Amino acid sequence: MADSIVHTSRGKWSSPGIPHKGWTCVGIDDLEAPSQECEMCESVDVRYVHYMEHPDYPETLAVGCICAEHMEDDYVRPKQRETGIRLIARRRKSWAEKKWRISQLGNHFVNTEGFNLTVFERAEGFGISVARRGTDRNQTGRKSYPTRDGAKAAALSALLWAKTHL
Ligand SMILES: [Zn+2]
Repeated sequence: MADSIVHTSRGKWSSPGIPHKGWTCVGIDDLEAPSQECEMCESVDVRYVHYMEHPDYPETLAVGCICAEHMEDDYVRPKQRETGIRLIARRRKSWAEKKWRISQLGNHFVNTEGFNLTVFERAEGFGISVARRGTDRNQTGRKSYPTRDGAKAAALSALLWAKTHL
């Protein structure tokens, strides 16, 4: 609790005309390191930025988790958002380390979590296709990526999509 008291007496918390409650989070960002000062308390550097908006305040404020909790008057959801984005960051990191194999056709592929993901070259660049293994369910993405590595990174989103749609 001491932490909260320190936060809510600093920076914009003590400037007149700034609403303390009634803010809504409109987005969250992972800066990959604590690199931006919280725009509300102006006293901590944050890695996970919560973008907050209020009907009576013209600007969007980029703040840390503790300030977001107070501004939303919700002590559960801001932490959940942060946990979610943290898992995604960890997921992307391990995804980037994945070893891809090369098929007889020369396409790069990976079999994971019951799916086959393939990155293949086409006229516009590199495409992604995903198939649920052992079935004939599959989908080829319309989007092309300029590089093979870009398509491989994007294949994680294809996998996550496939898990709920394919
Ligand atoms: Zn803050």
